[in-house]
Amino acid sequence: MITAHQECTVPKEVYHNGPKVKEGMQYGEYVNNQASSAPTPLSSTSDDEEEEEEDEEAGVDSSSTTSSASPLPNSYDALEGGSYPDMLSSSASSPAPDPAPEPDPIPAQVPAASQPSKMAKPFGYGYPILQPGYQNAATPLSSGGQPSSPAYSGFQQYAQYPGMNQLSASLGGLSLQSSVQPESLRPVNLTQERNILPVTPVWAPVPNLNLDLKKLNCSPDSFRCTLTNIPQTQVLLNKAKLPLGLLLHPFRDLTQLPVITSNTIVRCRSCRTYINPFVSFIDQRRWKCNLCYRVNDVPEEFMYNPLTRSYGEPHKRPEVLNSTVEFIASSDYMLRPPQPAVYLFVLDVSHNAVEAGYLTVLCQSLLENLDKLPGDSRTRIGFVTFDSTIHFYNLQEGLSQPQMLIVSDIDDVFLPTPDSLLVNLHESKELIKDLLNALPNMFTNTRETHSALGPALQAAFKLMSPTGGRVSVFQTQLPSLGAGLLQSREDPNQRSSTKVVQHLGPATDFYKKLALDCSGQQTAVDLFLLSSQYSDLSSLACMSKYSAGCIYYYPSFHCTHNPSQAEKLQKELKRYLTRKIGFEAVMRIRCTKGLSMHTFHGNFFVRSTDLLSLANINPDAGFAVQLSIEESLTDTSLVCFQTALLYTSSKGERRIRVHTLCLPVVSSLADVYAGVDVQAAICLLANMAVDRSISSSLSDARDALVNAVVDSLSAYGSTVSNLQHSGLIAPGSLKLFPLYVLALLKQKAFRTGTSTRLDDRVYAMCQIKCQPLVHLMKMVHPNLYRIDRLIDEGAIHVNDRVVPQPLLQKLSAEKLTREGAFLMDCGSDFYIWVGKNCDNSFIEEVLGYPNFASIPQKMTHLPELDTLSSERTRSFITWLRDSRPLSPVLHVVKDESPAKTEFFQHLIEDRTEAAFSYYEFLLHIQQQICK
Ligand SMILES: [Zn+2]
Repeated sequence: MITAHQECTVPKEVYHNGPKVKEGMQYGEYVNNQASSAPTPLSSTSDDEEEEEEDEEAGVDSSSTTSSASPLPNSYDALEGGSYPDMLSSSASSPAPDPAPEPDPIPAQVPAASQPSKMAKPFGYGYPILQPGYQNAATPLSSGGQPSSPAYSGFQQYAQYPGMNQLSASLGGLSLQSSVQPESLRPVNLTQERNILPVTPVWAPVPNLNLDLKKLNCSPDSFRCTLTNIPQTQVLLNKAKLPLGLLLHPFRDLTQLPVITSNTIVRCRSCRTYINPFVSFIDQRRWKCNLCYRVNDVPEEFMYNPLTRSYGEPHKRPEVLNSTVEFIASSDYMLRPPQPAVYLFVLDVSHNAVEAGYLTVLCQSLLENLDKLPGDSRTRIGFVTFDSTIHFYNLQEGLSQPQMLIVSDIDDVFLPTPDSLLVNLHESKELIKDLLNALPNMFTNTRETHSALGPALQAAFKLMSPTGGRVSVFQTQLPSLGAGLLQSREDPNQRSSTKVVQHLGPATDFYKKLALDCSGQQTAVDLFLLSSQYSDLSSLACMSKYSAGCIYYYPSFHCTHNPSQAEKLQKELKRYLTRKIGFEAVMRIRCTKGLSMHTFHGNFFVRSTDLLSLANINPDAGFAVQLSIEESLTDTSLVCFQTALLYTSSKGERRIRVHTLCLPVVSSLADVYAGVDVQAAICLLANMAVDRSISSSLSDARDALVNAVVDSLSAYGSTVSNLQHSGLIAPGSLKLFPLYVLALLKQKAFRTGTSTRLDDRVYAMCQIKCQPLVHLMKMVHPNLYRIDRLIDEGAIHVNDRVVPQPLLQKLSAEKLTREGAFLMDCGSDFYIWVGKNCDNSFIEEVLGYPNFASIPQKMTHLPELDTLSSERTRSFITWLRDSRPLSPVLHVVKDESPAKTEFFQHLIEDRTEAAFSYYEFLLHIQQQICK
């Protein structure tokens, strides 16, 4: 077995500096083509305007940039995207296997058996996130055409409506027919129209651009703006009383991505914008930047088009035809050679942890996925365990078994054998496997209840500092020893307080400081909190928030008592361990002159005013940023936003992923309202409300949310709709706004009057801050479907599987007929509510029980029955589940069982003791407006 060992001889370093093999050779053809035809000097090397640029973003000009700005930026690598060798040629070539492929992309084909039904069946496409690729940009309307499809519900539907002609004039001279009023501007009397929730998913609105620009625009899955019509001035924005900001999902899994290898990455000499589809070519040799309007030269190399293998068509280069592209960056974009992928696991092995039994699940997952960890031949891995002391593991190749090294001085942690603790995954694989097989049983008899988490993190920081990488921390209780120890701050009697919710902020700055140190050394810390007791997540979460890590939370984890949580952990670990990862990343967002960014949301550290430092980037991370309009945009009809994410792939390649979004500028308030993206707006508001809750108070944040509705509807009512209505009027684009805000007020993060554990609340806030919109929306407003009569009509086909598409139901008990069964998708939980009088055939054929009475109180799986309805139901649930990073737990809830409380809490249109019904909320808003 593993022996305690005090040996301190330092074994010599075994891993090699990776051969500088060019993974890029795959792209060789492309490179060679260019090289042979156009060996061109770089366009702009010592531009004086660029000195403010830091490291990677400095790009070609890095020589002139400050290298002192950050401690250790850099490294190379190639993203797993390195497996898109032929991407450039066309969509015909299928991408090479991706370690974390997007779940079953739905081919853009139409429902098989969809006869037009009299019920307006749900649309045959998928959720936006399942679209095949960014190329089909906007929404299923890949043609970019008018949303003529009847299924295209929501505010994209352009109804026949009178008026609304001033809209066209201001739409950037674009192609709106002035005779048509968009549905987005149809005044909706909210107090009278009871069924405002569309029965099909709400898509992102398509910005009102001409067809060509629509086709080129960035997919809303990667990049969305709360207002798809940008107000010309801040004054106009202020009048609209709507939040302006961007929602980003910059590193999401893509099935298609043009990857460009080029000696010259063409960027504006002045503002460093990457050339993109929205620049204009003045002639063949000059292009005008769409962000700062500087006229730049077209470099010679750019005159050659590798796609067509022809010369003289710069406007047909892939960079100009795609609003999402990825460049292989040169050494100019590195401050040091790309480091290997390094993974360190820091594991709580106190009595509490052993009792919960998570080590079994973790070690098993690691054993299963060891070969799928993103990386190359240089990948390194290490393990640290801790209770009241810290245990290191010497896994140096050549040892007969792993050696455990115990350090008991937690006040001044040192690394016993620094060079043999993080070892080459391939060279030491057998030792690693030995350790993983032994770990779950190594501490079974421990009586050690203390947790020296802080010192363990300090050790991890030291260990990771030379290379950077990813630290995964598993913690099961409040840290009780050494630096960073915490005390319980939760008063269980206050859990359902309607007044003050305390302790939403950290108790100490230890974890934040540690995170900033880690970030400086390109190390991100991910936290897995598995605890049934209060563990002060608001303090612990700081280790991840500021180091660009992520946070997982399993509040009632127990390996055997709570098998569904164990299964959830196992599934989420699989995704976590195998998904794509980028190291040493920075992200910069640029926007057209006149606009400016002021507040960022997400997990990162802001290095300079607008450069986000991301020690790690993962495909499940979302970001948001607030915008203001500093100078009026009267001279332009279009504005653009560009995100550049520079990172090192796990294969040691330096890459830059660029997204560019183009939006029209408008000058009237009506046009501003016409372009509201209500989901983006609600997600941005949610982020702002989290900040407000922590910096001020929860009640302030709640007031701000209510005021957002009152102010915008009031502004709309007084300036746009001159209609004499007695009800509460909203433009079509905002008709879901009050509903979504009410949903937020009832969300775990912001609710009051309902018993909510402090850690649960804080976790909900963490999720709001870092989930991409598509997942956040399900948390805010779950989707409810009736599933006892699933039919194939309107179904979609995914990998030869028929996936039914039931209609969405509003979140109210009035929809729950006792004769039916309903599925609620809350993002991280699925509920199947079974009515008392539900047809026995459904109970038999789907649940596998003869009748309602025999359904068990606790049921978390659907049996695989050989019936059509079982197949349809499982197919639908699998399809929903496949599309997300967190694996939802399924709960079958019988009508009248005690477990139904959780389910009913999500019926946000209904009244609860503590909160308004939707209708009452509308009346409340109306009263506030009339005040
Ligand atoms: Zn520029």
